Amino acid sequence: MILMEGVQKYYGDFHALKNIDFQVRRGEIVVVCGPSGSGKSTLIRCINRLEEIDEGRIEVDGMDLYAKGTDINKIRAEAGMVFQHFNLFPHLTILENITIAQTKVKGVPKKSAEEKAMALLERVGLAHKAHDYPGALSGGQKQRVAIARTLAMEPKVILFDEPTSALDPEMIGGVLDVMRSLAKENYTIVCVTHEMGFAREVGDRIVFMDEGEIIEEDSPEEFFQRPKSERAKKFLKEILTH
Ligand code: ADP
Ligand code: MG
Repeated sequence: MILMEGVQKYYGDFHALKNIDFQVRRGEIVVVCGPSGSGKSTLIRCINRLEEIDEGRIEVDGMDLYAKGTDINKIRAEAGMVFQHFNLFPHLTILENITIAQTKVKGVPKKSAEEKAMALLERVGLAHKAHDYPGALSGGQKQRVAIARTLAMEPKVILFDEPTSALDPEMIGGVLDVMRSLAKENYTIVCVTHEMGFAREVGDRIVFMDEGEIIEEDSPEEFFQRPKSERAKKFLKEILTH
């Protein structure tokens, strides 16, 4: 479903992604972890072309993201992103936040966009908030809305960038529950997170990054019990004693 080959990414002189080869199978749940600044966000942002790359190739379900003439809106619809800070429109209601891309980008009629939005809000337990503004919601509720907004586009791939890191601890569980339910439904997911319990439980594979490189990839069991590199050992020690 996702193919990255020989990807190089620079921010000016800074080499942010170093020769990344990375593949995700359809229905696979991949958890990306690593120290702050290791390139995790950059990696997943390249998968829906929020960043440009300097070398290499990225495909999502056979679509070459960086080919000339590739439609950015199509890319963003196929690889949906859920951000740490939700990025909801503050001046739109919850319902409008979920319908706007469907109507504007996909040309879905307003009524069917609203029906779909309501069904998704139901699913994330927030149908009663449909006509409120984001400002009236807790962080955890906003993140569940952001997930519903992403699902509304019927993405082939969902990219999560530390979806629970900005939340108060008591809000994290509800968001992880929604993510668990997606994992069960055969969505293809790449998730950057430090929630190692979640990674162990739903991850098919853990990718550990440091300094712009993929250092190791393994099943959660292997990674947590027998990390191979010194860097992964050090990282795990730090986050698990945190
Ligand atoms: P992570 O998500 O693992 O914390 P990022 O992918 O955000 O790491 O960043 C990787 C490195 O690239 C960091 O050193 C960061 O400072 C740098 N970086 C990220 N975005 C930019 C940018 N827009 N301009 C310059 N440097 C950036
Ligand atoms: Mg990041």
